[in-house]
Amino acid sequence: MGQRVAVLLLPVKKQFPSQRKKSKGLIPLSASPEAQDPPACLFCDQAQETAPHLLLSCVFTRQIWTLVFSHLNLVVDVPVNSSSFSAWWGKVIRAAPNQWRKGLNSLIILVAWEIWKHRNSCVFEGVLPNSQVLLQAITNESTLWCLAGASKLKELLARSLVAPS
Ligand SMILES: [Zn+2]
Repeated sequence: MGQRVAVLLLPVKKQFPSQRKKSKGLIPLSASPEAQDPPACLFCDQAQETAPHLLLSCVFTRQIWTLVFSHLNLVVDVPVNSSSFSAWWGKVIRAAPNQWRKGLNSLIILVAWEIWKHRNSCVFEGVLPNSQVLLQAITNESTLWCLAGASKLKELLARSLVAPS
């Protein structure tokens, strides 16, 4: 699992479709001499597949974040254009009440991880992007994390049972 996380954190740069096949979807550590612009996003085909786009700004991904946050009665801005996923993440955590920060950290890690896994299913298994499948995977994984002891995540997820005020 550690290796997979390391791949997630690498910048998606200097990769194009033929290279994506050669590298089996992995993101190269350095730009090759023949590298050109990144390939198109697998989710929307409307922008280059950069890490901030894939994890945050893609129309497909933004829909996922918006549904997750609204389900938890959380008001979180999901930017259309962002140059840094980590900067957005930090901003969201700083803006959250102290009591929700640990749970929100876990949630953001979990959702980003599932987005990455869904992207990899599209690359390696030919799966079509599907928001319902991804949301179900997020639900299943969050249940497992709570069972494994993610108590602050569990408290945050309980917000879905509370009517918005
Ligand atoms: Zn996209």
